[in-house]
Amino acid sequence: MSRYWSKIVKELDPYVPGEQPRDRRYIKLNTNENPYPPSPSVIAAIRHAANDLLKLYPDPNCQELRDTLAQYHGVEPGNVFVGNGSDEILALAFFTFFKQDEPILFPDVTYSFYDAYCNLFSIQARRIPVREDFRIDLSEYVEPNGGIIFANPNALTAHCLPLSEIVGLLERNTGSAVVVDEAYIDFGGDTAIPLTRIHPNLLVIQTLSKSRSLAGLRVGFAVGNEDLIEGLERTKNSFNSYTLDRLALAGALEAIKDEEYFQMTCRKVIATREWTAKELSKIGFSVVPSQANFILVRHASHPSRELFQKIRNEGILVRYFDKPRVRDYLRVTIGTEEEMRTFVEKLGVLVQS
Ligand SMILES: *Cc1c(COP(=O)(O)O)cnc(C)c1O
Repeated sequence: MSRYWSKIVKELDPYVPGEQPRDRRYIKLNTNENPYPPSPSVIAAIRHAANDLLKLYPDPNCQELRDTLAQYHGVEPGNVFVGNGSDEILALAFFTFFKQDEPILFPDVTYSFYDAYCNLFSIQARRIPVREDFRIDLSEYVEPNGGIIFANPNALTAHCLPLSEIVGLLERNTGSAVVVDEAYIDFGGDTAIPLTRIHPNLLVIQTLSKSRSLAGLRVGFAVGNEDLIEGLERTKNSFNSYTLDRLALAGALEAIKDEEYFQMTCRKVIATREWTAKELSKIGFSVVPSQANFILVRHASHPSRELFQKIRNEGILVRYFDKPRVRDYLRVTIGTEEEMRTFVEKLGVLVQS
């Protein structure tokens, strides 16, 4: 710790990303990346954009990408905000909407960046316990609050809420912003984007990192009422006007256009998830029902912490969270069919010994 750090930095509790080791080749099932490469047309578009124009700043309004996203989701360009990954949009949203007198509400088991942002911006939070089966119960989000955020499907648990329950929350909670983080929505859930037309306090955030195989490009977007989008713009333009570079803008635009490739890879991930869940249950695992590109699992007789190490020694990385409520589980990202076959085979051997 340096004496030059500000008081708030001394007290930060930063988010810890999953490991990206380089010591050997692993089957990476630990950070919820897509196992399939980006669409070839995305790579071509990025290559094409690597030209002399890089000497110029990119469009600070990202207009072409916003227009394309608006058309794709049936809203107006003024309802769309884009950012350098959805993490950046989440940070801007916490600052823009959640610095209020009342604490904000979010699930106790969820994406740990929400805690990090509360810390960074000195926002008070109340963590509402998810149910025993890890379902989020929105009927418990009733107290006065400075905002509500949850991931749908939820991070870690992969549980997905039906839109009817989100509508119920929005009808009760009209006095503060409600942010739905849909990083995993394309793997089987229904997006709340259409609800943004009716509910002026709803912001839906999505990312190209997971379902569009572009974690390395850093592009996310948000959809909501124009007032919400304008608030995000104000914050962004007080911090960094050029959050998306020219290569990212070119690649993202193409990723949204290549619907066929997107649908195909999502279908494959979903099919492999169902296969993996079935095979794991045959060898003694319980699997929390998932609508995401990962599953939360535990074995009846082998502690997850041990399995995490043993499978790592076999060259396969999964995620173990030494945190209340989930420390009995492993979170496993869905890889390719072949990767998951290897994973199930190696686990099968480990749990028999
Ligand atoms: C992966 C993830 C994000 C971050 O996505 P980026 O766009 O890569 O920043 C946001 N929220 C949740 C719940 C995630 O799992």
